[in-house]
Amino acid sequence: MEECLFCKIIKGEIPSEKVYEDELVLSFKDIKPEAPVHVLIIPKQHISSINDLNEDNAKVISHVFSVAKIIAKKLNIAETGYRIVSNCGEDGGQTVSHIHFHLLGGRTLRWPPG
Ligand code: 5GP
Ligand code: ZN
Repeated sequence: MEECLFCKIIKGEIPSEKVYEDELVLSFKDIKPEAPVHVLIIPKQHISSINDLNEDNAKVISHVFSVAKIIAKKLNIAETGYRIVSNCGEDGGQTVSHIHFHLLGGRTLRWPPG
């Protein structure tokens, strides 16, 4: 099976601007930023989407949020505020089938999203 784009980024086969990495997750700058701060946080284990979470693999998601807090502080948006988004499926706007969390900040974000 052809490996997914984000698995290739995890392996270093495709370059990325990393902002955080540990044994469970990787965070890197989005290639097409929608805000002054726009990074993606992904589990290193391939999980296609929220629909594929279960009792065993979902534990990493709480870690994603712990890490998001650390990254927000590192990128100086912890106090001004930020948004975490995970798009799921076609209507959700998911374009890469490896679960990921957008961390957006550095400007006032509009609500609701389009
Ligand atoms: P989605 O649309 O699935 O919610 O988010 C996928 C995100 O991945 C998009 O914001 C897109 O800009 C980003 N992206 C797609 N390909 C690459 C890439 O090769 N490198 C990086 N850093 N980001 C990518
Ligand atoms: Zn993957």
